[in-house]
Amino acid sequence: MRSWGKGFLSTVIVVPCYKVAVSCRMTVYTNFFIPPWRSEWEKSREPRTKEMLINYNADDCEALRLLTEFLCRLSTPTVGLSDSDAPCTVNVESLPLPSRLKFRNVQFQLPEFDAINKSAYWDYQRERILVRSSERLKEIAEKTRKPRTAKPRANKTIVWPGPARCPKCNGKKFYKHCNSSKTVLDVRFGASGIKRWITKYLFYRYRCPKCRAVFHNSERAWANEKFGVNLRALSVYENIDLRMPQERVAIFLNDVLGFNIPRSATNRLKASAAAFYDDTYESLVKTIASGSLVHADETKVNLKTGVGYVWAFTNLEEVAYVYAPSREGDLVHSILKDFKGVLVSDFYAAYDSMECPQQKCLIHLIRDMNDDLMKEPFNEEIKELVGEFAVLLKAIIATVDRFGLKTRFLRGHKVAVDRFFKRLVNRYYQTETALKCKTRLEKNRSGLFTFLEFDGVPWNNNNAEHAIKAFALLRRDFSGVATEKGIREYLILLSICETCKCKGVSFLGFLRSGGKDIDAFAESKLRRTRAANVSVRKLGRALSTEARRQKNEG
Ligand SMILES: [Zn+2]
Repeated sequence: MRSWGKGFLSTVIVVPCYKVAVSCRMTVYTNFFIPPWRSEWEKSREPRTKEMLINYNADDCEALRLLTEFLCRLSTPTVGLSDSDAPCTVNVESLPLPSRLKFRNVQFQLPEFDAINKSAYWDYQRERILVRSSERLKEIAEKTRKPRTAKPRANKTIVWPGPARCPKCNGKKFYKHCNSSKTVLDVRFGASGIKRWITKYLFYRYRCPKCRAVFHNSERAWANEKFGVNLRALSVYENIDLRMPQERVAIFLNDVLGFNIPRSATNRLKASAAAFYDDTYESLVKTIASGSLVHADETKVNLKTGVGYVWAFTNLEEVAYVYAPSREGDLVHSILKDFKGVLVSDFYAAYDSMECPQQKCLIHLIRDMNDDLMKEPFNEEIKELVGEFAVLLKAIIATVDRFGLKTRFLRGHKVAVDRFFKRLVNRYYQTETALKCKTRLEKNRSGLFTFLEFDGVPWNNNNAEHAIKAFALLRRDFSGVATEKGIREYLILLSICETCKCKGVSFLGFLRSGGKDIDAFAESKLRRTRAANVSVRKLGRALSTEARRQKNEG
């Protein structure tokens, strides 16, 4: 197959008979050599040349028929086709990128090389090879291989009372059937530290002599989980807010707090927290979609199975991350289907079809304009055009800096904007760069100065970019190894973490509170701060009255 221009081809289709490449716009490229038979035949009128020409055209028609059939088959389900007959389509974007890292897994072509490479692993050498050469290393290896066996002792043992009545027949008389226990691993947060806290619950199962039912007290202080709420909060806080990989969270819990839990436990804690906060997350998405302003941005994420995309939606207080398998605009449409406010975004085409008023990020625009200037420093046309735009925007930003994002003050600049575009229409540029810049400005005119007409709409997309940056920092820990389910759990918790930061409350504090409503938690914090301020003021007043009294008496 021919090699195609980079960045152009989005889908490669391998047809069983003919090899062609078809882009998403259905442009077909064939690698045919066109022989000069027609001109030869026109000159010579030889029947042999004519026959060759007819055969050649018939082959072309046959190829086209096969291609048409194949393309029709793509749009219909391939029921009944064996795997070898079914067309093999691969989305180029789903192919994993080759790793540029030095410490990557090398795919060896020979099994012998693979086996030799495995014998050089650090652990393998230390545990299997070097221990045979050194007594000292053997001793160290034996010591480190021993897992911690001693179970940590319970801080508190509670004998859980039985139920008052038989749940089946409501009888009051029943007897102990067998005893059981439940140990809950947790931590306690003090004013200046954390302590491991293990509670052991002893309880009985009971048998009712009347109806023979076996039961236990359904009212319990523990859930079905092995870990307590505070330990889950700590683990999620370290993983999501402090960006500690799950493996290191487990090391911290084991080494510092003396637990004996595997790495997989921290992943289970993350999954449990994500399930618990699912409603909170859904309400964040709803709040954003029903507001008057949304910033949106998206980024790529490598999964275990391929490539996916994470979209960040935020207003000035809530942040929600949503996973989508592709970068198409369907997700934006489904999330913001009832959105009536202003959408702030970059110039990615997926946003263009949204029907709400839009503000494009002007920082993106001026960066691109700056690149044009850098590339063509002697292009007078682009210099003039960009210069005029800069003067226009600078005056508007000066008003924003002085009065904030208020239409009352910004509306006055609309005259200058109209004048700028009127001048632009009558400009005819010779250079390609200036022409491109002019076309871009005119095409996006409706989305460049929307912020002059709506209160509180920023002229850049920094809010969404800030949210994306938070995800990018977290992404380092699971890139290439996470599953779709794992990513979705991360996104639920990161949405809550970033929302807490936007609302000025502690993520750890919210997790520890056990509540699901971030606004209610923020409000309770605010009330407590207000009450503390009031008592400090009262105390101050009382002290000054007392000082005055003493002075008068003195
Ligand atoms: Zn009973």
